[in-house]
Amino acid sequence: MKPKVYVMWFRNDLRLRDNLALALAAKLGPVIGLYCWEPRFDGETDFEFPAVGAFRRRFILESVADLRAELAAEGVPLYFREAEPADAIDELSEEYDIQAIYAQTEVGPDETAALGKVQQLEIPVRLSDGWTMVHPEDLPYPLKHLPILFTNFQKDIERKMVIRRLKPLPEFLPVPTLLDLGELPELPPERSPFPGGEKAGLARIQHYLWDSGRVLTYKATRNEMLDPESGTRFSAYLAHGCISPRQIFHEIQKIEPASESAYWVIYELLWRDFFHFNFRRYGRKMFKIGGIKGSTQFWNQDRELFEKWSTGTLEVPLVDAAMRELRATGYQSNRARQITASYWAKDLQQDWRIGAEWFQSMLVDYDPHSNWGNWQYVAGVGNDARSDRRFNLAIQAEKYDPNGEFVTQWLGKLDH
Ligand SMILES: Cc1cc2nc3c(=O)[nH]c(=O)nc-3n(C[C@H](O)[C@H](O)[C@H](O)COP(=O)(O)OP(=O)(O)OC[C@H]3O[C@@H](n4cnc5c(N)ncnc54)[C@H](O)[C@@H]3O)c2cc1C
Repeated sequence: MKPKVYVMWFRNDLRLRDNLALALAAKLGPVIGLYCWEPRFDGETDFEFPAVGAFRRRFILESVADLRAELAAEGVPLYFREAEPADAIDELSEEYDIQAIYAQTEVGPDETAALGKVQQLEIPVRLSDGWTMVHPEDLPYPLKHLPILFTNFQKDIERKMVIRRLKPLPEFLPVPTLLDLGELPELPPERSPFPGGEKAGLARIQHYLWDSGRVLTYKATRNEMLDPESGTRFSAYLAHGCISPRQIFHEIQKIEPASESAYWVIYELLWRDFFHFNFRRYGRKMFKIGGIKGSTQFWNQDRELFEKWSTGTLEVPLVDAAMRELRATGYQSNRARQITASYWAKDLQQDWRIGAEWFQSMLVDYDPHSNWGNWQYVAGVGNDARSDRRFNLAIQAEKYDPNGEFVTQWLGKLDH
């Protein structure tokens, strides 16, 4: 007789703690885990960039390895397949009597398509919301009334902030490993500053909130471009679900006395929620050239300019430095992203979707909601009341890199 099990299909929730889908599955009976490196990950974006660049690939594989080790310690196998999730689950069902499949709700079109195929198997699929800090059911209004402007959303949420309690580490029943677990592919050599995995994510929270205490100066330093401690650097861990935003929220509540600077991290996490809810609301419009505003603005597509922008050879020092940082590390600070995206869309007047896809390919912390939402915002086709916002680079450099240290770090000593 095949053993009865529940499948936990991990997607962008590569963690054991505060994982609602996993907690629900483990409550019902023995769990087996599955992670699929889907064929689309090896594909290309519309503008022919690798869909998942090397930095993100490495981060994900490290996170899956960490998850596998943690689950193994609990007697739970984590299967890894380079396959469509529906095919992988079909294969598992040859050896296991699968009662139901548990997974986190994902709202991107590719994720929805993969889910659609899984739903065609004759096995119940149960989805749980785990992406946001504010649970979607705790929003003060239905999604269709989500404000266009972030400040309105923020005020509405802060009026009565409800953040749900954390889900404890589940207790697991051991399960036999009946199939080949699937070897993880070799890691690409491209290494972002962030090692993947739940342990590394939790360590980063511990470091930033407690050991270094840098959270207490976060509000003042978060726009600095050079110092890696100026911001939380939680983004890659959040994007792949190695940690949850609720864990950060509840940890920040423990800081005494309450700190305005630490609160600012929660404020930024509200931006993350806002873009996620926007994505839920607008779906495919997030990828359209006219954005959620339906703008009819004309955008250029100049291949040569793209080469220069993306390789950091425009001879515009601040932009070049930040684009070289992205190429070398898979990361840019928020200020650098604002500057480079704005320069591409507003100064060069190039199709903002090319920039968004380049970021999608390169970023270690890419998530569709934050990336496409921010790009629309910067390009003036999204959630910004003003569509003519444009950075003055001289002022940006004066404010955020007054001694030229960031530029020197990435371009070497220049006469700038
Ligand atoms: C053009 C553009 C593209 C972006 N693409 C992404 C992306 O693909 N993935 C991603 O996680 N962030 C994206 N961001 C948002 C932001 O730049 C990064 O979250 C931030 O730089 C990550 O560094 P940090 O963790 O130190 O951030 P911190 O400043 O320490 O912020 C704390 C957390 O708040 C969230 N956050 C902060 N600012 C934003 C924001 N503007 N939008 C959404 N969430 C925010 C992140 O989860 C971040 O980890 C983008 C911003 C721009 C302007």
